Amino acid sequence: MTDERIDSLTSSAYRQALEVIASVEPRIADATRQELVDQRGSLKLIASENYASPAVLLTMGTWFSDKYAEGTVGHRFYAGCQNVDTVESVAAEHARELFGAPYAYAQPHSGIDANLVAFWSILAHRVETPALERLGAKNVNELTEEDWESLRHELGNQRLLGMSLDAGGHLTHGFRPNISGKMFHQQQYGTDPQTGLLDYDAVAAKAREFKPLVLVAGYSAYPRRVNFAKMREIADEVGATLMVDMAHFAGLVAGKVFTGDEDPVPFAHVTTTTTHKSLRGPRGGLVLAQEEYAADVDRGCPMVLGGPLSHVMAAKAVALAEARRPEFQTYAQRIADNAKSLADGFLSRGANLVTGGTDNHLVLLDVSSFGLTGRQAESALLDAGVVTNRNSVPRDPNGAWYTSGVRLGTPALTTRGFGHDEFDRVAELIVHVLQNTQPGTTKDGKPSKASYSVGDGVADKVRDASAEMLDKHPLYPGIDLS
Ligand code: PLP
Repeated sequence: MTDERIDSLTSSAYRQALEVIASVEPRIADATRQELVDQRGSLKLIASENYASPAVLLTMGTWFSDKYAEGTVGHRFYAGCQNVDTVESVAAEHARELFGAPYAYAQPHSGIDANLVAFWSILAHRVETPALERLGAKNVNELTEEDWESLRHELGNQRLLGMSLDAGGHLTHGFRPNISGKMFHQQQYGTDPQTGLLDYDAVAAKAREFKPLVLVAGYSAYPRRVNFAKMREIADEVGATLMVDMAHFAGLVAGKVFTGDEDPVPFAHVTTTTTHKSLRGPRGGLVLAQEEYAADVDRGCPMVLGGPLSHVMAAKAVALAEARRPEFQTYAQRIADNAKSLADGFLSRGANLVTGGTDNHLVLLDVSSFGLTGRQAESALLDAGVVTNRNSVPRDPNGAWYTSGVRLGTPALTTRGFGHDEFDRVAELIVHVLQNTQPGTTKDGKPSKASYSVGDGVADKVRDASAEMLDKHPLYPGIDLS
């Protein structure tokens, strides 16, 4: 089908859909229209966001949403799941082929769910199954109360080693506010205080001392590539299962930017991801596994998941099919090239970046040299139509709420078609806003970590400059709701 035909079909599909929605709840139709206007008019630099294709978006809006399908393909707890079986099989097939994984599980509703499935399948494989064998039971229902209590105790007393939050790790990697921190005894590895880079010898030393059952690699805010061959060596040496959470950089793995030792899939026992970040699919999760963990991951529902979101699994299948096209590799390479252009743009204007640069899809700008907290910088940038999120920097003196950094990613604007010149200009505009932002004071005159003021006319000037670039690279150009 030609691009023009796709554009015209998409436009009429959304116009009509919004009319139907408006006939029931006009406020939701209005908010949906306004969200498109807002996204079209802002520089989206949130490293975990993207713009899924109209095909992916349309796939989510169907009657698959109406179907319950607990269980697995061909083995459901409900009747009438033959079409969901097709959807789940196609999604898993694309995921296996795209990532070269022996096994793929497409049911997790999100990244946190994918990680929960991974953790519990590792616990099942490493703790529950050996205990059942030891006790001569086929499943947990056969255990005596006493044996069950002892197994529950054993399951709840395992160790996990993951990257610290301020070095770029994620809450779901064993931190107390998240259930992963309540399930596991957790310790953290950080980054080198001088370079900001992962120090594999230090990770190995920590692993030898702590002897985790699970070693987690992967991050939300580390601007560099990881050597997963080395992480696997460390895991093997201490008898840990290597779990890699590639939620952020799955698109770079899919697009063959991260290959060899930088591709986690051959090295990890279990790999998890979201599908909506650099992978550019619907909001959801995926788990990939080596054969030996496949049967345990397959128990995700009912272990930690309820009925799968079949409409979203269908959209995952469409997005994964898109990611298998050669153009996706070009897109993924441009994400990384653009991140370099953004980083160079900052460095050439004297700004500080954690690790001094990037070789993935994100940069972490340390805003303390502008005299601001991350919160003040994030708010000032938003006033100018630049959407980012504040983020801790390693050993952050301002903690996880106010922070000293701003995280910026290139996947979304790369989807819109931004290239080197635009990202250099984006760096210039951001530096201009931050140089013209003053920290405020609290009511009693003390320095505030939240309030700020932006110089007269600065936000408008940046909005105008952004609009020029955004107009040249329209978002969803085929969707005309007028
Ligand atoms: N894992 C990583 C590394 C993430 O960055 C995120 C989200 O930001 C998640 C997991 C959780 O994903 P979700 O928000 O889909 O639950």
